[in-house]
Amino acid sequence: MYKKFIEHTDIRDKLIFIRNDFNVPLSNDGDITDDTKITESLRTINYALDQKARVVCASHLGRPKGQKDEKLSLKRVAERLSDLIGKKVIFNRETTGPSIDKIKKDMKGGDILLLENLRFNPGEKDNDPDFSVELAKDIEVYVDDAFGSSHRTHASIVGITKHVPLSVMGFLLKKETEYLEMALNNPPEKFTIILGGVKVSDKIGVIENLIGKARTIIIGGAMAYTFLKAKGEDVGASLVEHEFLDVCKNILETAKNKGVKILLPVDHIAANKIEPNITIRMIKPGDGIPPDMIGLDLGFNTVSIFRKAILESQMIFWNGPMGVFEIDDFSGGTMAVAEAVAESPAISIAGGGDTVAAINKAGVRGNISHISTGGGASLELMSGISLPGLESLTED
Ligand code: AMP
Repeated sequence: MYKKFIEHTDIRDKLIFIRNDFNVPLSNDGDITDDTKITESLRTINYALDQKARVVCASHLGRPKGQKDEKLSLKRVAERLSDLIGKKVIFNRETTGPSIDKIKKDMKGGDILLLENLRFNPGEKDNDPDFSVELAKDIEVYVDDAFGSSHRTHASIVGITKHVPLSVMGFLLKKETEYLEMALNNPPEKFTIILGGVKVSDKIGVIENLIGKARTIIIGGAMAYTFLKAKGEDVGASLVEHEFLDVCKNILETAKNKGVKILLPVDHIAANKIEPNITIRMIKPGDGIPPDMIGLDLGFNTVSIFRKAILESQMIFWNGPMGVFEIDDFSGGTMAVAEAVAESPAISIAGGGDTVAAINKAGVRGNISHISTGGGASLELMSGISLPGLESLTED
């Protein structure tokens, strides 16, 4: 896909709108607990400011349901952004309206304004044409840098592009799509997908789309138990998505026909409940999980099988933890996979909030080639679904 790119666009002195993804995690007191999404956005923002553009930034934060919610104000993001770029970020708690129009008129080249949380207005999620027109007012170039929202047909992602002369990619969006499209369209021979977490429904499309292109598919986490059940194994009280049993059977059959390796856990760490500090039990290879126990992490044999496959890969796409990694007793499999991905010579792409948290917990962030800021968007793209946010940008 060849879309216009900010670096090849004249933005000098222009009023530009950058759609960022500042959807940062907050503590109960409203403090920003991880500012990665802001730091990842700096390249585009600093470039635009250096070009003396007049920069209007915008983002959503959380799920305020179309009305003002003080806890989800972008005020703290404005302050953190200001610290990071070393310059004042104008912020007046409005998204559109006369006060914003006036600020836009008064802005000089190199000035920056952050709008209030876009989702305070119901028009954002509804892709409302009137709200889109308001956002687009006087904007000369729209810059999309919010990969994490590019699977959403929202006003600041899609609607606005109908009312501005030019819609281009920012640096972050370009980097995200380049990595993912390399995996999607042009992977090396030894391409491995690692999927985990709970929701089979979110990830099944990735397997269906890439089976064959990926020669090895590693499945851990709760979703592995739906596959193991589909194979007729005893999974005890582990989480199983019964409506996906047939889909899993078909995938296992396709893999066999195409010579694709699907690696599933062969042993497990199980317990009666999902709780810290409870009695855990190792389930050996060949032993089923007893009816009253839940598989909660990979066993040691599984870890070494997964590790070997990861170290032999040339490219890896990973989304989803291998167990209930939030609890230390069940985090070993996910930590071992994070370490193996980091050690592997492969180009590694990881996405999804839990996966990124696990990578940070394992302290290997610096050894992953690309950490995607958009878990859901990256899964959709890898499933072969075209993203509305990318589709609506101007062709180069
Ligand atoms: P997802 O949002 O689908 O990627 O799922 C992430 C969640 O899956 C994390 O909160 C994990 O604790 C959870 N998880 C991973 N493995 C298991 C498992 N074996 N049983 C229950 N939950 C799990």
